[in-house]
Amino acid sequence: MTQVLRLETPTTLEPLLRQHHSHWAKLRRDLHAHPELRFEEHRTADVVARELEDIGYKVVRGLGGTGVVASLPGATPERGIVLRADLDALPIREANAFAHASVQEGVMHACGHDGHTVMLLGAARILKEMPQLPGTVHFVFQPGEEGGAGARKMIDDGLFERCPTEAVFGMHNWPGLPAGQFGLRTGPIMAAGSRFRITVTGKGAHAAQPHLGLDPIPLACSMVLQCQTIAARQKDPADPAVISVCMFNAGDTDNVIPSRAELRGTIRTLSSDLLQRLQSDIEQMCNGLAAAYGAQVEVTFFQYYPATINTPDETALCEAVIRETFGGARLHRDVPPNMTSEDFGFMLEERPGTYVLIGNASRGCAAPGLHHPQYDFNDDIIPAGVLYWVALAQRYFGTPGHQGPREE
Ligand SMILES: [Zn+2]
Ligand SMILES: [Zn+2]
Repeated sequence: MTQVLRLETPTTLEPLLRQHHSHWAKLRRDLHAHPELRFEEHRTADVVARELEDIGYKVVRGLGGTGVVASLPGATPERGIVLRADLDALPIREANAFAHASVQEGVMHACGHDGHTVMLLGAARILKEMPQLPGTVHFVFQPGEEGGAGARKMIDDGLFERCPTEAVFGMHNWPGLPAGQFGLRTGPIMAAGSRFRITVTGKGAHAAQPHLGLDPIPLACSMVLQCQTIAARQKDPADPAVISVCMFNAGDTDNVIPSRAELRGTIRTLSSDLLQRLQSDIEQMCNGLAAAYGAQVEVTFFQYYPATINTPDETALCEAVIRETFGGARLHRDVPPNMTSEDFGFMLEERPGTYVLIGNASRGCAAPGLHHPQYDFNDDIIPAGVLYWVALAQRYFGTPGHQGPREE
């Protein structure tokens, strides 16, 4: 279980990480077996709070619903950084048969937030045992990342007033990268997203008498195709965007023209500006087509998450941390951005910071991906994740790393 701990330079922390590894793996498997959906993370928050209290932290509960925060005071309390993990699981039926598979029918830790939580708990433990840092480290365990915008809720609930914060840092496991390697990039690393609903209203009729009605189905079909034209022809091809119509509902039987058709889908872009523009293009297209057909249309957008945009200085710092701690061979600089979305983008709208990927591929790159019913977090990477957090906190506040700078 310690293979990914092989470091570029031996670290004095290695024995400590080894000593706690089996405890962390046990904790992670306990969380995996007891997943909870967004804003229902009561047991998970209990486990996190208990572990933090055992280590000696004063714990704040209930921020943004079920969020948990603990702070390690630094010499200058007004200086602070947030290290963030997420607590929630997904409405997926787990297809694994191992001992720590979910006991909660239809709920599963398929995104590895169980692992994120434990790696941050590990960092809280190790940093507590080390000399005081010049600034404060806030360990933030947020609820509702999966579609609940829990990060936004914690901010609205006063996270940054309670925890003076200069910069924010997040981490997500990545099954597409080898275990214990890291991926990062400056600028957008995950996409902005919104969902839409298009309701087309025509006039129902007998299937054999379409001239007596106003069939919404061909009109809605045109709208689906035009969405693809907008994505392909109405924006700079070098600026990525996805428009996917994922639901098309109309009609109840095969011999009646329905009066209504409903389309639902998702837009993803790497900037909020492009997202806004595509939304107005879709609206304009729908209104124009509906007017041409003489039908009614209603277009509604539901804002999802902003893009997750890494700031240059903080990303350079994270790069240095990874190079010095793990060696350049374990760093994938400039990984391509991903069109998935992540609510850490809300924190990065408020403060500079960086979101990194940590490789999780235990069984090669064919390992089940995120949100797959056979996914599992790889416990081997826990020490690497803990060490990254510890080294980042030290380096951020200018404390010499535990192993000193690497000669390059
Ligand atoms: Zn997820
Ligand atoms: Zn996730």
